[in-house]
Amino acid sequence: MKVVYLDNNATTMVAPEVVEAMLPMFSDYYGNASSMHTFGGQVGSMLAKARESVAELIGAHPEEVVFTSCGTESDSTAFVAATESQPEKRHVITTKVEHSAVLALGHQLEAKGYDVTWLDVDEKGRLDMAQLADSMRKDTALVSIMYANNETGTIFPIPEIAQMVKERGILLHVDAVQATGKIPYDLSKLPIDYLAISGHKLHAPKGIGVLFVRRGARFRPFLRGGHQENGRRAGTENSPYIVGLGKACELARQYFDYEQQRVAELRDRLQAGLLAAIPDSIVNGDLEHRLPNTLSIAFKYVEGEAILLRLDRLGICASSGSACTSGSLEPSHVLRAMGVPFTYAHGSIRFSLSRYTTQEEVDYVIKEMPGIIAGLRAISPFRG
Ligand code: PLP
Repeated sequence: MKVVYLDNNATTMVAPEVVEAMLPMFSDYYGNASSMHTFGGQVGSMLAKARESVAELIGAHPEEVVFTSCGTESDSTAFVAATESQPEKRHVITTKVEHSAVLALGHQLEAKGYDVTWLDVDEKGRLDMAQLADSMRKDTALVSIMYANNETGTIFPIPEIAQMVKERGILLHVDAVQATGKIPYDLSKLPIDYLAISGHKLHAPKGIGVLFVRRGARFRPFLRGGHQENGRRAGTENSPYIVGLGKACELARQYFDYEQQRVAELRDRLQAGLLAAIPDSIVNGDLEHRLPNTLSIAFKYVEGEAILLRLDRLGICASSGSACTSGSLEPSHVLRAMGVPFTYAHGSIRFSLSRYTTQEEVDYVIKEMPGIIAGLRAISPFRG
């Protein structure tokens, strides 16, 4: 059965060009980049090139790029850097709709006695900028706000946020795991201190990430040991994956226009096709500020998990906006924070496209979905 992969916010296919760039790293260039010999030195030069490629994508200096193992590690490192370097500051601000990689860090700080402000969002998933302004205090160690939401694709106004946070002299961390490679941003113009990236969301392999650390920003390492990454992240560099990420960033630059236009067109086609064919369906998130590849759509009176199972039988991969919590299906924390009505939140599905998605695949989903939803509604326990 052909797989129609529309779950690219969960993870992406490794681009063939990335695989090709990585393969010689396992067989021919397997030296340790920190070694004194020329064999290792060659690898060091390849890592330097990859670092430049990442830096170019995001408007950073190469020395501001720290390679990590994933987005989660990058987020954790930013929190350690900001809190351990300012132990006297015991307040942190984040949002209710962050990925669990950041939510967990907020909860961990609360358990340590920190005061954490969890910013609200409105029904479209937008932040209240006045609430952010009011929350910042003299003892705020860090503001951590995601660039774009993984479930709804809603993009937060990071340039405005960065300006507000900088004016108060507070450190800012941005989880840009979903934004990077999908929308352009330029760190040479944005006063952000730390920014997290994950390779597997932009067609590099799983297990490689980046933490951007602005030159001069306070820093404490999360992983301690050797002096790799200029003393900012101990552990022998994962050279094959770093080279792969460098290639993926180069491709992301090449595909930016395509992502903005063609992928967005396909997403809009999917959205319009589903809304037209299925009554009682709504789109979640901020339609004006949204990642070009993401569609979070809710169908009244059905369960997301049931939709996913039926899609799965047809080879269609998507995700639902609910998670199984202690035996019952709970709408995700993101949809709950947005106040999406219960009857819709339960039936939320996320389709996330990529540069490899075709119109034929989108049309296949548009053709199959109405029957799936009608069939489930006919047996729905939610319906009157
Ligand atoms: N932050 C966001 C917004 C994400 O979507 C994800 C992954 O889904 C992560 C962080 C975690 O990234 P990783 O899987 O590389 O640890």
